[in-house]
Amino acid sequence: MQVKAVKFGGTSLSDAGQFRKVYDIVKSDESRRYVVASAPGKRHGSDTKVTDMLYACYDMAAAGLPIDAFFDGIRARFDDIIAGLGLDYNLDDEYEYIKSTLRHGAGRDYAASRGEYLSAKILARYLGYDFIDACHVVFFRDDGSFDDEYTYRNLESVLRGHERAVIPGFYGVMPNGTIKTFSRGGSDITGAIVARAANADIYENWTDVSGFLMTDPRIVPSPLQIKTVTYRELRELSYMGAGVLHEDSVFPVRTVGIPINIRNTNDPEERGTMIVSSVNCADLVGSDHVITGIAGKKSFSVIRIEKDRMAYQRGFLRRVFEILDLNGVNVEHIPSGIDTVSVIVHSSELTGKKELLTESLRRAVNPDYIEIQDGLALIAVVGRGMVGKPGVASRIFDAVAGAHINVRMMDQGLGELNVIVGVDESDFESALRAIYSAFVDKQ
Ligand code: ASP
Repeated sequence: MQVKAVKFGGTSLSDAGQFRKVYDIVKSDESRRYVVASAPGKRHGSDTKVTDMLYACYDMAAAGLPIDAFFDGIRARFDDIIAGLGLDYNLDDEYEYIKSTLRHGAGRDYAASRGEYLSAKILARYLGYDFIDACHVVFFRDDGSFDDEYTYRNLESVLRGHERAVIPGFYGVMPNGTIKTFSRGGSDITGAIVARAANADIYENWTDVSGFLMTDPRIVPSPLQIKTVTYRELRELSYMGAGVLHEDSVFPVRTVGIPINIRNTNDPEERGTMIVSSVNCADLVGSDHVITGIAGKKSFSVIRIEKDRMAYQRGFLRRVFEILDLNGVNVEHIPSGIDTVSVIVHSSELTGKKELLTESLRRAVNPDYIEIQDGLALIAVVGRGMVGKPGVASRIFDAVAGAHINVRMMDQGLGELNVIVGVDESDFESALRAIYSAFVDKQ
């Protein structure tokens, strides 16, 4: 029998109705043996996630304020779910324990983790699955990094002892026994860790959308869905701002080649997006488009440096990067010409540093010209179908030129998996629409 590790996000567990959908999904496939739960998320647009309520509660406790009334709101979220499911289950002792721990100086991460803990307890009870507390199986090192080796070794043997189980996402334990969480959205990571430890055939990540779209629906109305994406493509796309999955959740499963399937709890028949380590030729032929997706971000700056005969000066770039490093500036891209180099950075990296940086660069490399320009937007056009295919870059530029937009820079990765186009921020949306339409609408 196959083994599937399945993770349900906050909106999939936001109320009793959503818990019922999760029940049906899990029970409809007996290979869905290990379930990772998030804390209840928003039930509607103006609602508050339980995790945010817990952070607020922690702040109140830390400020010495009474938390009873506020905690009642959190408790109500869980009790409503229990009542809505008709479960004979009572978490009163747990609530009291959490409150008293918060009053006695428990950490912020402990507070936040209780959303996943309680949610997973209810789900385990409802499904009739075992409950495995993440604080016994997910370990962090003293420096706060995730202890992969120790975790996999332990979790593997623990899972072997449970035919079916629910595990809370988002948190684990430090060597000193305190609870620590991953960054926000971190239940995705727990899901991947469990998939890996269970040696799962697939990691299903159930959320409230049917996978990835080819581009941002706020910019292009109803973009097509991505059916298959490789880990590498996904990394490029999410680095440039495409959301849905926590970035770090790819690493645990990527190395062992477990595919991730993004699925929609509200539309379980939809097959969603498959994230795979590589796709075979049949898939490639079957994929309809040369490009897999387009993502982009605003707020970049360019440091333009020109110097006659720069290309012949040994150590020129090293000195430039040394200065950037000394000023704590992280570099994103470095398109260059014979006697010019442009260093592209997030504008926020330069806040309060522009003058000092320009001055230090002047002193270090004595350029003929140096200027910092803000207001750059970057668009990444990503696709395994572009590799080795002539004419892709020209199609991108034709599309952008056809929309009367000036390309301020371009950069193509050596792997040919992506082309980055830089335009003025004010042209960002139109450029993205033009590229999408050139590759999708006009096919
Ligand atoms: N509940 C946590 C958050 O809101 C973790 C998660 O849902 O993945 O970030």
